[in-house]
Amino acid sequence: MTVGFASLEDDLESLKKQNIYRSRRLVSSSQGVCIEVDGKKVINFSSNNYLGLANHPEVIESFKKATNQYGVGTGSAHLICGHTSSHQALEEELAAFTGRDRVLLFSTGFMANTGIISALLTRGDFVFEDRLNHASLLDGGLLSGAIFKRYIHKDIGNLQTKIKSTKRKSLIVTDGVFSMDGDLALLPALSLTAKKNEAWLMVDDAHGFGVLGATGGGIVEHYGLSQQDVAVLMGTLGKSFGTFGAFVAGSEVLIETLIQKARSYVFTTALPAAIAEATRTSLRILMVENWRRDKLLKLANRFTLGAKQIGLQILPSASAIQPLLIGDSQSAIRLSNDLLDKGFLVSAIRPPTVPKGQARLRITFSANHDEQQIDQLLDALESTTL
Ligand SMILES: *Cc1c(COP(=O)(O)O)cnc(C)c1O
Repeated sequence: MTVGFASLEDDLESLKKQNIYRSRRLVSSSQGVCIEVDGKKVINFSSNNYLGLANHPEVIESFKKATNQYGVGTGSAHLICGHTSSHQALEEELAAFTGRDRVLLFSTGFMANTGIISALLTRGDFVFEDRLNHASLLDGGLLSGAIFKRYIHKDIGNLQTKIKSTKRKSLIVTDGVFSMDGDLALLPALSLTAKKNEAWLMVDDAHGFGVLGATGGGIVEHYGLSQQDVAVLMGTLGKSFGTFGAFVAGSEVLIETLIQKARSYVFTTALPAAIAEATRTSLRILMVENWRRDKLLKLANRFTLGAKQIGLQILPSASAIQPLLIGDSQSAIRLSNDLLDKGFLVSAIRPPTVPKGQARLRITFSANHDEQQIDQLLDALESTTL
């Protein structure tokens, strides 16, 4: 029996025994389709850089130019002296892009989610969350002190049994595209449920922006939902946008409330202005270069069809995320290591990121992959014993 912090070593041992110990790989190249990992060149099927913008020459050029003007650091929070005209321009462009009144930048998506939910709700209010929501949404709900209820994944009936109109604030919170499954939230039904109960709906579309919708406007563009339907629309900049940071889009009242009350906004250093400038360029490319979205989804579809033909259990997904369900953590890791030996980086996702017994390979695609690479991955999967 150990006491106090002496138990940390035992805890680590226990994680190893359960095959859920996490460790990092060393990357020594830029984030492309071909990436150098632990000294070995492999094809990358595990990045969220869906449109290939993380390493786009124009995005890099904008970053460099802005660094010459602003330097690197912003020196303070947005509310002190860190809010540059580049941040302001990006917020206005994102507001136009999302068709919302206003946008507020956050330094990371994790901070946006914890900041937004805890600014909107307090003890005695209600938060309803899909069971498979991203960790930052769940943590935000817990941090807010509101009464915290989880509903069964995409089960509107189950949500309806939990929610009822009260005089208190109620917030329904969901991923747009679920990060580990790649499936889409049933937003029209969630929005109706919110309206019926005088609740607000908050959507985190980290994996939908850039991928879904005619101009890359994500799940709300896909379903044609306005600010009246989705009061709080959050997105991250580290995925399709290829840069770093996050934003929330919504009404004037929402944004002003967050500026006053979101602690992860008020008490943190503003993003480098060069990141804002790089993101302005990636936003422009994301909106106009439709071929990137088309190609990405075509490649994902080619993979799904091929995987079915060789009898693989792919979870149904209309996004850039195609999960191959394995089950136990040990097999998922073994498979991921086998694929790495064959020259493919495909990450094993294990509990607690996904439910127990649902370890998987999370396979993601990029507009910069080509058909041959998809076929090579399928061949490698076929010749690897699952
Ligand atoms: C990546 C992600 C976040 C966190 O965003 P960061 O900017 O990486 O902190 C939040 N929500 C979802 C659904 C995500 O996939």
